[in-house]
Amino acid sequence: MSLEASSAFSMLTHREQLYAYYLGRADWEGAKICLLQCSVESAPIFCLLQLVFSIQPIEQLKANAAAANNGLTKDEISHVIMYAAAFYGNMGNYKSFGDTKFVPALPQDRFHKFLQSATSKSNRAEEVERLWQECHQRMYSLTPRQRQMGLGETKGISTYFSANCAETDATLANAFLDSIGLSAYNTRLFKDPTTGHYTIRIASTETAPPQIPHTPNTHTFQHKTFLLTRGDYSPLLTRTTTALTHAGLYTANPNQTGMLRHYLTSFTTGSIPAHKDASRAWINDTAPAVESYIGFIESYRDPSGVRGEWEGFVSCVNREVSRKFQKLVEGAEVFLRTRMPWGVEWEKDSFIRPDFTSLEVLAFGSSGVPAGINIPNYDDIRQSEGFKNVSLGNVLQASYGVAPDVRVSFVATNDQDHFKTHKATAFEVQVGIHELLGHGSGKLYHQDTTAVEQLRASNVKHPLTGECPIDGPFYKKGATWNSTFGKIAPTYEECRAECCGLFLCLERDILQVFGITGGDAEEEGGILDVTYVNWLLMARAGLMGLEFYTPQTGEWRQAHMQARYVILRLLLETATETTNDEDTNSTTPPLLALHRFIDPEDGKPNVEVLLNRDLISSIGRKVVGDFLLKLHVWKSLGDVENGTKFYNQYSVVTEEMAALREIVMERKEARKILIQPHMCLEPGTTTGGQAIDDDGDGDSDIVVRLQTFPVSPEGMVESFVARFPAEDPELMALYEADKESMTE
Ligand SMILES: [Zn+2]
Repeated sequence: MSLEASSAFSMLTHREQLYAYYLGRADWEGAKICLLQCSVESAPIFCLLQLVFSIQPIEQLKANAAAANNGLTKDEISHVIMYAAAFYGNMGNYKSFGDTKFVPALPQDRFHKFLQSATSKSNRAEEVERLWQECHQRMYSLTPRQRQMGLGETKGISTYFSANCAETDATLANAFLDSIGLSAYNTRLFKDPTTGHYTIRIASTETAPPQIPHTPNTHTFQHKTFLLTRGDYSPLLTRTTTALTHAGLYTANPNQTGMLRHYLTSFTTGSIPAHKDASRAWINDTAPAVESYIGFIESYRDPSGVRGEWEGFVSCVNREVSRKFQKLVEGAEVFLRTRMPWGVEWEKDSFIRPDFTSLEVLAFGSSGVPAGINIPNYDDIRQSEGFKNVSLGNVLQASYGVAPDVRVSFVATNDQDHFKTHKATAFEVQVGIHELLGHGSGKLYHQDTTAVEQLRASNVKHPLTGECPIDGPFYKKGATWNSTFGKIAPTYEECRAECCGLFLCLERDILQVFGITGGDAEEEGGILDVTYVNWLLMARAGLMGLEFYTPQTGEWRQAHMQARYVILRLLLETATETTNDEDTNSTTPPLLALHRFIDPEDGKPNVEVLLNRDLISSIGRKVVGDFLLKLHVWKSLGDVENGTKFYNQYSVVTEEMAALREIVMERKEARKILIQPHMCLEPGTTTGGQAIDDDGDGDSDIVVRLQTFPVSPEGMVESFVARFPAEDPELMALYEADKESMTE
């Protein structure tokens, strides 16, 4: 699918386009960090692909490969291109959504043959061969450990850690970082194989030892030695800071200027407090024409849940859709006070209205592109200063459109039309509520604060135990949501946000904000089609979530999909309760059932999600509300023990569900890869409209062009050839330096 942004881009002024251009450069240069955060072999594979496809136009390479002696077949060539496209789309050889390794669909010797025949006439053939020798083994190997990301010998690989680290090392390091108040977001952990000493590497352009006030660089914590160093990814971050410095010439207001200044400090020195300051300036930059965010942001990929993956995006605002979202924001305070299944003491004292905009993405430099974001992830800023919500409109459109003639998997025949008609709207509603009222809701209580004093003095009963005054446990000083709940934090929080979406999409006035009104279902107890499809979408997603569970290790690999599976289990459990009630000998179908059958189309086992529309607003609303209350209160109180026990119980994949997983795996569809446009600078012409120096900044001699690519695997490859040079010795040097400690 192609990410469409041309018309929104053309509406920007020349100055705004230049600002977007340099931010886009900063995003993509930094995105090479994702390669180093993915697997040890990702950097050389990237360099190999980049070099090969830069030598000649792709059609010429294909022709060479086919014409060679014992040349490649058409299928073999398309397997090579597919692999390259998938690799680029994920910025590495593990799926960004699901964290499993993928390998080329043709034998090693044939891939090798492609490289040789395609480049034999070029003067780079030797370098291509050298890179191939460097990466081909791990590019193909599927040892049990290398099949998925995970922490430790039996679980998987993770380059946030040296290969000899296990979960115990991560837990200890996280506790150590909490103890000195240093954020883990931009760090990696290395363990010396001989001394057992730990090194915490901080990402920064500067390579000298850190100068953190009142903090030495060597610590002893629980009888272990920890050393703090800086300069992780230094050459790559230097490119990002160079681009950010350029972007600074084209800012629209002092908030943007301040924001860039703090980003520069953060990436130069490795300071997370500076990144927080950048985030603060960013929050204050309301409704800008060009929206962006950049840094070590989401912790989904760290098996211990605290280290951030590189992510940088720049986009232009879709004013029309944004107005709709702003209406939801205006109502948010009332919705949070009156519609949630908890009292006001479980919400922030005052709701800080976020910016909620619909964006058209121009560049998203990371391993994957989400449909909605609620950032910053820093609890303290979210609690007291606010946050922003964005919905990525062109991503939503590219990813969630349904072709009318294709049958939707796991949805019953009766529901097919409904599903296709309302899927996009339901998803927009779910993303809107999920981000704003889901991630945007709640309050965290820290030990020895006036907030806790007030809570205890107010005689509020514990909503789950009735205990009064409430005894905590409350968050420790300096602890955050992520550092306290650790590994489980990302998926637990996604589950909380998804439940908010299910619960609140039953509220008519919230739907009205999205322009959805009554229609036929206005009668008492009836629900709207959009609501029905939203619940159906969730149940289906829960079933499909099984793809992201590894039976061999018993681990989940994707936070959102685990969350949806947990919700599926909850709804199914409700079904059991209602049908096992022997007093009611009724034939009412349960709230949710999974119907297994042999598909007449192909004679193979299949499964359908059957949702009882009549029970959603009664039983369904009740169970989701009760469940949501539990997740919410435990999060609020820092009750990691009860929260984890409860959540893990629902994450268990029972034998019955494991059997369904087989069907899901058999019938899974390929995930779409998004082909992004590329912004490039070109000499201007005096007649071209964009080249007129409309803002007097003296840049009329250059124009920013938004280059687009064919919607095909070839187009994906071409977009990366346009984006990055053929060779990157600095990236290879970073790879060489860590190769040994990253290899098991
Ligand atoms: Zn979310």
